[in-house]
Amino acid sequence: MEEPWYKNGLRFSCTGCGKCCTGSPGYVWINDQEITEMADFLKISFEEFVKKYTRKVADRLALLEHPRNYDCVFLKDKKICTLYNARPKQCRTYPWWPENLESKKAWEEESKRCEGINHADAPLISFKEIKGTMNAE
Ligand code: SF4
Ligand code: SF4
Repeated sequence: MEEPWYKNGLRFSCTGCGKCCTGSPGYVWINDQEITEMADFLKISFEEFVKKYTRKVADRLALLEHPRNYDCVFLKDKKICTLYNARPKQCRTYPWWPENLESKKAWEEESKRCEGINHADAPLISFKEIKGTMNAE
């Protein structure tokens, strides 16, 4: 099998700037298991969580975002995820998404949106660690 272009690892360290949780329209897709975990974290029912914090897009559910500034409903003070320990997989695995790792160009493009990518102080994340995060549940 051909080795991926990032086989020697990539530099990334989250600065906590919060930009990936706001700024442009997007979807944080969630499944039933994630809803259960988030609802448990907030100590509310599954149904209440769905009603208060989600929107239906075709046949899937996504987290609500502010209609004007596109802040995720769980983003506080532009920086803090209020359910960080229970955040969905899509958030936990960023920036290790297949579309960002497709090519060096895609990775560089994403670095314009995320200051933690290729950050001067960022450690080198090994290929093994990247794969581990991508496949984490
Ligand atoms: S945009 Fe990047 S550096 Fe900023 S909070 Fe998101 S992952 Fe972290
Ligand atoms: S759930 Fe948390 S990490 Fe995910 S987009 Fe919302 S504020 Fe950001």
